[in-house]
Amino acid sequence: MSVTLVTGCAGFIGMHCAQRLLERGERVVGIDNLNAYYDVGLKHARLGRLHGQGDFTFEQIDVADRDAMHALFARVRPHRVLHLAAQAGVRYSIDQPDDYTDSNLLGFGNILQGCRAQQVEHLVFASSSSVYGGNAKLPFSERDAVDHPVSYYAATKKANEVMAHAYAHLYGIPTTGLRFFTVYGPWGRPDMALFKFTRAMLAGETIDVYGEGQLVRDFTYIDDIVEGVLRVLDKPATPDAAFDPLSPSPGTGLAPYRIFNIGNSAPTLLMDYIHALEEALGMVALKRMLPLQPGDMHSTAADMAALASWVGFAPHTPVRDGVARFVHWYKDFYPS
Ligand code: NAD
Repeated sequence: MSVTLVTGCAGFIGMHCAQRLLERGERVVGIDNLNAYYDVGLKHARLGRLHGQGDFTFEQIDVADRDAMHALFARVRPHRVLHLAAQAGVRYSIDQPDDYTDSNLLGFGNILQGCRAQQVEHLVFASSSSVYGGNAKLPFSERDAVDHPVSYYAATKKANEVMAHAYAHLYGIPTTGLRFFTVYGPWGRPDMALFKFTRAMLAGETIDVYGEGQLVRDFTYIDDIVEGVLRVLDKPATPDAAFDPLSPSPGTGLAPYRIFNIGNSAPTLLMDYIHALEEALGMVALKRMLPLQPGDMHSTAADMAALASWVGFAPHTPVRDGVARFVHWYKDFYPS
C-alpha cells in the first residue's frame, strides 16, 4: 500500500491533512518534534485524534536531525511526502531566527535528500503568502517575482522554493510548493490572531489589533486547505512547460515542479474578521489599536486561477462561517 509521510503531523494543518488521508484508508507515517513554540498539550491532543484512526504511526523526530531523517526515509520508504513541519510565525522569526535556520533550511535540505534517496512519487511542501513581500501587486500571482521577503520566516520559505526547484530539476522529483494564506479553523494555532482574540475576549481582556485594524488578509478555512492539499498530492507535478506560470525558466530544462497559491480570493479587513468573531461570541472586543509590526505585510490576496485550473478546486468558505466553526470548536475544547 502507498505510504505518505506527513511531517509536522501534530501541527494544525498537518493533523487535518493526516486525518483526511486516514479517512481515505491510506497509510500515514507522521513525524513531529513536538517543540514548545506553542502549547504542547494541544499538539498531543491533535495526535490523540490521529492515533487509533486507521493505519497511522507516529515518530518524534526533528527534521533538522540529518541521521534520524536519513534512517527514517530508509525505513519507511514513503511513496509521497507532505512536508508541513517548519518553524512558523513571522514575528517570532525576528527574535529567534536560529529556529528557522534549523527547521526550515537544514530540515528542508534533509527532506530533499530523503526524497532523492527514495525517488518519491511526489513531494508537496508548505510555502507561504509571505514570500510575496511588502510591495507585491495585489492579488498575488505566481507569475510575479518574489525576491523581496520582509521577514526571515518568509526568506526561509522562498529559499525552500528554490531549493526544491533545483532538486526537482536535477533528480526528476515531482515537487509542488503551496503558498498558504493565513489558515484558520478548528484546532488552529494559539499564536495566531483568531485564537489569541478568542482567548482574550472570553477572559474579558483587551485584544491587540495590529495595523490599526486596517490589515488585509486572505483568511483561508482549514477544510478548504485540506481539500486543496489532497487534490494536489494526488496530482504530481509534471515537466509540462505548457502549463505556465509554473514551468521553469528557460535554459534550466523542464523540472516536474509547480508552485501554487492556496488562498480564499476574498481578502478581508482585520476589523471585519474581528467583527465576525464578535458576532460568533456574542460580545464586543476591547481593542488596543497598534501599528504594523516589523516583518508584517499590510495586505495579502491570492490569485487562485492556477490552482483552480490544475486541480479544479479553490477555497470558498466565507470568513463568517469559518470563524463561527472555530468558536464552536474552541468552546468545546476549552469549556469555561
Ligand atoms: P504548526 O506550527 O501548527 O505546525 C507545524 C508542526 O511542525 C508543529 O507541530 C511543530 O511541532 C512541527 N515542527 C516544527 N519544527 C519542526 C522540526 N524541526 N522537526 C519536526 N517537526 C517540527 O503550523 P501550521 O499552521 O500547521 O503550518 C504548517 C505549515 O504551513 C508550516 O510549514 C507553515 O510555515 C506553513 N504555513 C502556515 C500558514 C498558516 O496560516 N497556518 C500560512 C503559511 C504557511
